[in-house]
Amino acid sequence: MKAVQIVKPNELKIIDVEKPVIDEKNNVLIQMTAAGICGSDVGIYHGTNAAATYPRIIGHEMVGRVAQVGENVSGLKAGDRVIVNQVTSCGHCYPCKIGRGNVCDHLAVRGVHIDGGYRQYMAVPEADCYLLPDFLSDTDAIMIEPTTIAIQSCNRAELTKDDMLLIFGSGALGSSILKIARLICSHIIVADILDDKLEAAKENGASYTINVLKEDLVEKVKEYTEGHGATVSIDAACTKDSLIQLLKATGNAGRVMTMGFSVAPTEINQFLITSKELDVRGSRLQNKKFGEAIKLIEEGKLDLNGTVSHTFPLLKAQEAFDFVDSHDPSIRKIALTFDELEG
Ligand code: MN
Ligand code: ZN
Repeated sequence: MKAVQIVKPNELKIIDVEKPVIDEKNNVLIQMTAAGICGSDVGIYHGTNAAATYPRIIGHEMVGRVAQVGENVSGLKAGDRVIVNQVTSCGHCYPCKIGRGNVCDHLAVRGVHIDGGYRQYMAVPEADCYLLPDFLSDTDAIMIEPTTIAIQSCNRAELTKDDMLLIFGSGALGSSILKIARLICSHIIVADILDDKLEAAKENGASYTINVLKEDLVEKVKEYTEGHGATVSIDAACTKDSLIQLLKATGNAGRVMTMGFSVAPTEINQFLITSKELDVRGSRLQNKKFGEAIKLIEEGKLDLNGTVSHTFPLLKAQEAFDFVDSHDPSIRKIALTFDELEG
């Protein structure tokens, strides 16, 4: 079968690999039908993702059809449409024991530390498969994964209806967070450097927007929160000075969420955190949030239809990644498809 492998940074190859077989643990064989291209996949391709190891079959936004199930499978049958959880954890370490397998000491993320979904078939445990609603297409369904990342950050932030939320960054991550956050609270400020992204944020439920190239973030946030500052700030921009900016823009007793993976040093100071008793928390991947995301879609609270702007066949993955690198303004989300690889 065919797969897309990043051999080493900046070298993408279509390879032939053995079709996987199911066993007692990986008891469901999935025939892939759609796989998303995420910013982190582009990072692995270009060698800027510190977590990735090479060579790697990438892809962590994985949608497919059940092709075969093992004898010990009870909840799935051939033909079922599913999305696959990208997080695999050991179940025994401290984080796993307290129910936080997404930061397992032995964390293995599909498409990052172990092979992912840019391949025709994969064998995975039944527990990692989530049934898709009929009305959602396979390509649109890849967006469930970014949705789970957004749910995780709102969850880690303990976001409630009375919060005054600041989302810093309105790209793919920030806009996914906005879609989830607006279901929880109504006072939402979105900051970015691009007016058209801010315009889109307004259409998607932001109460206030700030262009940080033209306006002072901290001052504006204070103005929009009656002088208090945000009660929750989520960093979906992850730039060199975003953390200190958010520590300043967040009011007393607030929560500041980090989501970046940069290892570059960034300047902050303890006074900002101590004097306001801020909680500074990381949010990584997602902790079994697929069920929650799918429920929101089924209840009509979240609409993922039409979010995918472009599709490329798996075998044209190079073209797809080159297109991403072109930063064409029409790009919202790109999905790889598997139609021409039937059987
Ligand atoms: Mn992703
Ligand atoms: Zn563990």
